[in-house]
Amino acid sequence: MKFGGTSMAGSERIRRVANIVRRQQAAGHEVAVVVSAMAGETDRLVNFCREANPLYDPAEYDVVVASGEQVTSGLLALTLQALGCQARSWLGWQLPIHTDDAHAKARIEGIDSEALLASMAAGEVAVIPGFQGLSDANRITTLGRGGSDTSAVAVAAAIGADRCDIYTDVDGVYTTDPRIVAKARKLKYVTYEEMLELASVGSKVLQTRSVSLAMKEGVRVQVLSSFIDDDSAPSDEIPGTLIVSDEELEGLDMERQLITGIAADKNEAKLILTRVPDRPGAVATIFGPLAAANINVDMIIQNVGRDKGETDVTFTVPGADLLRAQTLLEAQKEAIGYNRIITDGKVAKISVVGVGMKSHAGVAATMFRALADRGINIQAISTSEIKVSVLIDEDETELAVRVLHTAYGMDATDQAA
Ligand code: ADP
Ligand code: ASP
Ligand code: MG
Repeated sequence: MKFGGTSMAGSERIRRVANIVRRQQAAGHEVAVVVSAMAGETDRLVNFCREANPLYDPAEYDVVVASGEQVTSGLLALTLQALGCQARSWLGWQLPIHTDDAHAKARIEGIDSEALLASMAAGEVAVIPGFQGLSDANRITTLGRGGSDTSAVAVAAAIGADRCDIYTDVDGVYTTDPRIVAKARKLKYVTYEEMLELASVGSKVLQTRSVSLAMKEGVRVQVLSSFIDDDSAPSDEIPGTLIVSDEELEGLDMERQLITGIAADKNEAKLILTRVPDRPGAVATIFGPLAAANINVDMIIQNVGRDKGETDVTFTVPGADLLRAQTLLEAQKEAIGYNRIITDGKVAKISVVGVGMKSHAGVAATMFRALADRGINIQAISTSEIKVSVLIDEDETELAVRVLHTAYGMDATDQAA
């Protein structure tokens, strides 16, 4: 069971969480619980690091930000004990959760689960702070923002859990962010592949890495709400959204819609290099230095060369890397041979995702028509087997998501809602 920041925000909510955990234990389950820091706490700690030193050392940053989860894991163990449950906390370094040494965005390499399993078998609830790990150099690491989801899936895989239940502040995965579109519908099932695409294009309900790990390890993941009635009886039914494999879905959901979900990401920035020489190697001189600087390039458009043997190259990078990318490319102006750099940080990427589009034509056309009818201009397009993404003006994000939600017939009817 994993509980996110809103579920852990304050003594009263932690008591609610403890009751949910206790009910599962009472139903005969052995339980390991992964917790996030209280909502807002990690942001607060990140700010302290910035204030202390704008060019902070990521290793010390990890020491600071990992503390939020230490607090909530201890508090949950205490609260469970107050309810008469045996419980203890297992900090990331105590298990340990082994990670690489990429501080602030570390990857889990393995979890020693023997002690954990022994304590669970003895009837103790194991409470594990999410987000934390330990490097080979014996230093505390963290897994990147939203990383407790990944901790939970990794623990579930390590102990061979029947399921990994991710409790949050919404009762499942919706067709789009229910805080943006009131008519979003809750999905009963979503495939790993779809969830992976949705998470990677901006649905922050699950950290992307947690989904790829669940897919790789075959962990059964359910997303559900911790804000449910305290007294409702525990049941084996799935109240939230279950993430399933493609094959499993086919047996479960015959009425499958063409599009499963829509996501928006405002953290992109666009760069255009004008009049780049249209010859072999030109794009390599642009993207080589960006790769070397660890800057992820997402959408790329290269126009067909015009008669002068020149072409424009447009691409996107994470908004936080825009300045660095621009500086790097300006330094390479001679080598690349472009004329001008135009940048725009006020763009958003809107993506529609669905396994159904593998076998259906017209998904992109519907998207372009719906946006055009509302006068929304498309600046770039990219596609994968189960996704179409467009880049638009950031100010039009909410409008675009709503328009597309309606265009694909996804709006909840009053009856269903
Ligand atoms: P937690 O603190 O529990 O980890 P997060 O804030 O990370 O919670 O994730 C839950 C939030 O994800 C929801 O409050 C919702 O606004 C947002 N969200 C974005 N896209 C979706 C979606 N498709 N379905 C459900 N929630 C979504
Ligand atoms: N507390 C961490 C964060 O806010 C990890 C998490 O909540 O998943 O990013
Ligand atoms: Mg989260």
